[in-house]
Amino acid sequence: MLRFAPSPTGDMHIGNLRVAIFNYILAQQKNEKFLLRIEDTDTARNIKDKDKDIMFLLTLFGIKWDTLIYQSHNFQHHRQLAEYLIAQGKAFYCYCTKDFLEQKRQEAKDKHQAFRYDDNWATLHKESNNHPVVRLKSPKKTLRFQDIIKGEIEFAGEEIDSFVILKEDLTPTYNFACAADDILYDVDYIIRGEDHVSNTPKQILIHQYLNYSKNIAFAHLPILLNNQGKKMSKRDDASSVQWLLDEGFLPQAIANYLILIGNKTPQEVFTLKESIAWFDISKVAKAPAKFDLDKLRFLNREHFKRMNEQDLALLLGYKDISIGALAKLYLQESSTLNELRQKIDKIFVKKSLLLKTENPEFQKEILDLQNILLAMLETMDKQHISYEDFKNEAIKHSNLKGKHFFKPLRFLLTGASNGPELSDLFPILRFFLQDILRR
Ligand code: GLU
Repeated sequence: MLRFAPSPTGDMHIGNLRVAIFNYILAQQKNEKFLLRIEDTDTARNIKDKDKDIMFLLTLFGIKWDTLIYQSHNFQHHRQLAEYLIAQGKAFYCYCTKDFLEQKRQEAKDKHQAFRYDDNWATLHKESNNHPVVRLKSPKKTLRFQDIIKGEIEFAGEEIDSFVILKEDLTPTYNFACAADDILYDVDYIIRGEDHVSNTPKQILIHQYLNYSKNIAFAHLPILLNNQGKKMSKRDDASSVQWLLDEGFLPQAIANYLILIGNKTPQEVFTLKESIAWFDISKVAKAPAKFDLDKLRFLNREHFKRMNEQDLALLLGYKDISIGALAKLYLQESSTLNELRQKIDKIFVKKSLLLKTENPEFQKEILDLQNILLAMLETMDKQHISYEDFKNEAIKHSNLKGKHFFKPLRFLLTGASNGPELSDLFPILRFFLQDILRR
């Protein structure tokens, strides 16, 4: 079993989506089931409906799960396991008050020492505090594990003091719920962000104390950096999957980029489905990868090129397949759906609406040529006319030449003063001339 275990506490970060994609690919490669586990243990931080957003986004990216669980539904089970550990002498109640622990933390800080919990404190406040937490006993031995990407990782026993597994309201902490549910659902392989490296020995210890002997494989993915070389945070727009989608990046291009970045792949442009054939998690680089929006823009264009014209037209809000072909011509100057839509919409909008910002002389040239072209269209075989014939005919009728002809012509046909060659656009535009030139 592989799993993706998001917390419903915020918008999906691209780092999380990358984790989901990698776990999904491995599940497909190993022909294993894929579990979606909503980690809603932190009741104060859960945000309503974030679980639904997560499911919507995963579906959009083509990631299908076999089983869905909410971790909060297993709280009873977590409590039972904690009681078992207490009975085995591997966990204990700790009655320390928050103030006391805060004071100890401050003392350690003042002495420039790392704060370590001392098991002898456990019952100091037993009389005054009747909301104890449950702590797992410090292992006092070195814990190691093999990471597929980072190699062997070791934690000295003293680095792991007796840590909390049940909070005072008897809800489990992340580490405990995670380790317990990884057992319950028979998880074989865990891929997650490297911010979890220090949690892994704790989860391994929980497994050991519960006499669970299955060897789970771990791969911790290096963080993604922004273009200043800092960890991509909420402050970086591009860190939000929803922001990228709103900007007009295609899910298939985003997935392509998240698989490509910091990785050795046999090709540069591919779909998630294609990558299942060759993806190799052990080839992911140890070093953090830098997120490059220009590279994503390039991949977005490549995926537009691969897309069939009917689908592209529909994405842009048009029914006619030719609009898809037209949009592809604009890929030389646009990379996102929003940029393409802007170009295409300008072709079809009434030109009078675009004129306001142009100088009066140019406005007149445009309106004059518009009248001439509309009159000319009455007698023309629009479906079959070539650009050459159309142009020559229009020059003849208008008596204009050079930029006094071409500038207003381009504006009338495209709503812009520059863009792809008119000779390339015209074979498609000719089917819509009446629409394009309408007043
Ligand atoms: N809820 C954790 C997160 O979103 C999951 C970590 C894990 O995969 O164990 O980071």
